[in-house]
Amino acid sequence: MLLIGGGHAHVEVLRQLALNPPAEADVALFNPSPSVWCSSMLPGVIAGHYEPAEAKVNLWALCQRARVRFFETSVLALNAANGVLESGIGERHRFDVASLDVGGVTQPIPTTPGAYVVTVRPIDPLLAAITEFESVRSAGLMVRIVGSGAAALEVALALAHRWRQSGNRRVSIVSATQLMDGFPASVRSQALRACKKLGVAVLEQKVVEHIEPTRLRLAGGESVDTQLTVLATGYSPASVLQKTDLTRATDGSVHVNACLQSTNHPHIFAAGDCANVTGITVPKSDVFAIRQGATLATNLLANFNNSSLQPYRHSANALNLISLGDNRAIATRNGLSLSGKWAWRWKDAIDRKWIRRYALA
Ligand SMILES: Cc1cc2nc3c(=O)[nH]c(=O)nc-3n(C[C@H](O)[C@H](O)[C@H](O)COP(=O)(O)OP(=O)(O)OC[C@H]3O[C@@H](n4cnc5c(N)ncnc54)[C@H](O)[C@@H]3O)c2cc1C
Repeated sequence: MLLIGGGHAHVEVLRQLALNPPAEADVALFNPSPSVWCSSMLPGVIAGHYEPAEAKVNLWALCQRARVRFFETSVLALNAANGVLESGIGERHRFDVASLDVGGVTQPIPTTPGAYVVTVRPIDPLLAAITEFESVRSAGLMVRIVGSGAAALEVALALAHRWRQSGNRRVSIVSATQLMDGFPASVRSQALRACKKLGVAVLEQKVVEHIEPTRLRLAGGESVDTQLTVLATGYSPASVLQKTDLTRATDGSVHVNACLQSTNHPHIFAAGDCANVTGITVPKSDVFAIRQGATLATNLLANFNNSSLQPYRHSANALNLISLGDNRAIATRNGLSLSGKWAWRWKDAIDRKWIRRYALA
């Protein structure tokens, strides 16, 4: 059995394999790095509330405990019909069952060479850019975060909090719609208040069409200056999904049934952001990747135990906790929302508990 991507769902599969090792299993995990971020702690890492090591799960160690072989490489292509995958180090691996939890990447915007553009997925280039800008002397820095959702808001507020003492670094959000469109109006107003408090300028209804080295070209002929542009523009499928024979949904993710099996190749499973469950709309969030991880672990282990597969049960009214940079957060559920330091402490406790679950004893 091959696990492709060490995301929020597969870490639970690894934990279950460690707890209940199947007798005759040969399992391997492919991931480009030996650890994976707890994504909801990323804004806290940027803001300086966490050290990177506090916000990562050690995949390599988890694999050792689960007796799973670990390949530190991406998977480039997967042929489900032939049961073969191709890894980034040029090897081909045969499998009986495979499972995908590769997350997604950020939607690109056309860019002129020379522009300094980083994405929030994967996040490492942004973290490197922050340290780079802090390590050189400069007259000033204008960072434009392009996006309208929670990731754009959280990253902008985290950067503004990190640089709160430095007058020459400015952070601004450029949103194609209203900021936090689709969230309750109270979330939006709390988000805008937090931006005002931390000095984050919010430009709404501005569609970025092209990124140049020193400016963003907007629809309608306008432009705004930029030095570092951060894309938080929403989900786009990981490149490996374009090199599979799996049926995909309109957003490019893998079409799966309620048991998280590919609808055209049932020996391939998928969960988290890279999966699209037939008949339900599952937001691309780690909350649901984690929930699907429990179902996925049961169903992948059923291959070894000859037990029956379980359907993923979706609950749309999950609690959403959005960090506001300065040790405060918004808690929202069922259209209601409240914010404060207590919500941050709640979020912090949930995230740390998740990390502890996958830490070595
Ligand atoms: C800044 C930011 C803040 C966020 N905050 C929150 C939050 O507070 N709450 C929330 O619910 N959601 C949040 N999200 C959303 C969350 O990041 C994703 O929904 C979540 O990480 C999805 O989990 P996953 O298991 O699908 O994939 P991921 O956790 O992204 O893991 C995918 C793994 O697969 C690997 N991979 C990719 N391609 C390949 C390949 N070809 N071969 C092998 N491995 C591969 C990746 O390197 C990665 O390790 C946030 C996102 C961002 C960017």
